[in-house]
Amino acid sequence: MRIIVQKFGGTSVATAEGRKMVARRVEQAVRDGYATVVVVSAMGREGAPYATDTLIQLANTACTDLAPREMDLLLSCGEIISSVIMAAILKSNGIPATALTGGQAGILTDENHGAAHILKVDPTPMLNRLRQGLVVVVAGFQGVTRTGEITTLGRGGSDTTAAALGGALKAEVVEIYTDVDGVKTADPRLVPEARTLSVTTYDEIAQMAHYGAKVVHPRAVEIAMQRRVSLRIRSTFEDGLGTLITYSLEAAGTTWSELVSDNPVTGVTHVTGLAQVVIRAGQAEQALPIFRSLAESGISVDLINVSPEAKSFCVEERKAGQAEAILRDLGLDPVVRHGCAKVSVVGSGMRGRPGVMATVAAALSGAGVEILQTADSHVTISYLVEATHLQTAVQALHDAFGLGGEGAGSSN
Ligand code: ASP
Ligand code: MG
Repeated sequence: MRIIVQKFGGTSVATAEGRKMVARRVEQAVRDGYATVVVVSAMGREGAPYATDTLIQLANTACTDLAPREMDLLLSCGEIISSVIMAAILKSNGIPATALTGGQAGILTDENHGAAHILKVDPTPMLNRLRQGLVVVVAGFQGVTRTGEITTLGRGGSDTTAAALGGALKAEVVEIYTDVDGVKTADPRLVPEARTLSVTTYDEIAQMAHYGAKVVHPRAVEIAMQRRVSLRIRSTFEDGLGTLITYSLEAAGTTWSELVSDNPVTGVTHVTGLAQVVIRAGQAEQALPIFRSLAESGISVDLINVSPEAKSFCVEERKAGQAEAILRDLGLDPVVRHGCAKVSVVGSGMRGRPGVMATVAAALSGAGVEILQTADSHVTISYLVEATHLQTAVQALHDAFGLGGEGAGSSN
C-alpha cells in the first residue's frame, strides 16, 4: 500500500471554496493510487466561529483560568469539527471517507495538557480503514493519554500530527498544504525577489522554522527527520510542487548536485520583538545567579554571550521590563536596548566553510547596519540588529549570497 499523508492548515479549510480545493487535492491523491490520510486544522483564524483562537476567547469569557484539562477538551473540538466536515465533503464528492479524533487514530500522548508530546502512534485503526478503501480524515493537534484524557499538542500542532502519522504509517511523503507556495529564501514582504526553494534539508528547515520562517512547525520537522519521512510544503490554492524537505535522493527524485547547492547559505530568516540586555564587567562575576533568577521567572534567554567583560543576552520585548526588574533586585545595573531583531543566515553548506562571516560583515557594514551581537551553530549565523535596520539587513544578506538569482535549489 502506497500511503500519503496530506495536512491542510486553518486557512485552507476556512471557507467553502477552500474546502473544495482541499477535496480536489485529496481526490488527486486517491486517483494517483495512494491510500490517503488527511490531517486537518481547525477552520480559519481568530474570529472564525470554530477557530482555535475563537475557542480560547470563548473559554476566557466564561472563566479566566480554565483548567488545562478542560481547555484541551474545548480546543480539540475545533479540529474535530473540521475533520467531520471534510470527511462529509469527500463523501458527497463520491470519495468514501471517515473522520477520526487524534485518540481514535491511535495517537497516545503524555499528560502535559496544552503542550503534550506524542509518545506513540498505533497505526492499526488507520490501516484497517485504509484497507477498506476509505480516506481517513484525522483531527490534528490532539491525542489521548493512557487514562483516556484528551490532550492538545501546542499551537501549530497539526503539523506535528501529520509528521507523526507519516512516520507511523511509513508514508511515502507528508504533504503540508498551506497558504504559501513553499519555503522562501527570505520573507517576501521584506525581499520581493525571494525565491521558493525546490529542495532543502531537514537541518536547514529546522533552523529556519526556529528562526522565524513559520511555514512548518519545528517539532514536525524533528519528527520527520527522526522517522526519515519526507515533507513537502505546498500551496492548497496554487499549482506547483512547493518545497521538498528530505535527505533521501529517491524521495527527492533529484540528483545530489541539485540537492546540495554550492551556496553556503540557503535562506535568510528573522525574528522581531526582542530586547538586548547587557551587564558589564565588575557587576556580575558569576553568570549563574543571573540566569537562574530569569529561569525561575520563566523568562527564556537567547543569543547568550558570556565573557569576563560582559554578559549579554536577548529576551522577548514583552518580558524586558520584568527581566530588568529581576536584575535590579540582584543589585545589577543592566543596559536594556529595546526594539531589536535577530537576522539569521541558514545553510548546511556553511559547515566548515571559511568566509561566511566575512561576507556577512562586509554586506552589513556596507548597508550601514550595526551588528549588536552574534551567535552561531553548525548551520546558522545569527545577528542582532536594531529593528529599524531589519529590512535593510535581510535584503543586504539576501543580495550578498546571491539568493535572488538563478541557482541550484530554486524552482522559479
Ligand atoms: N488549530 C491549532 C492552532 O491554531 C493547531 C494548528 O492549526 O496546527 O494552533
Ligand atoms: Mg500552522
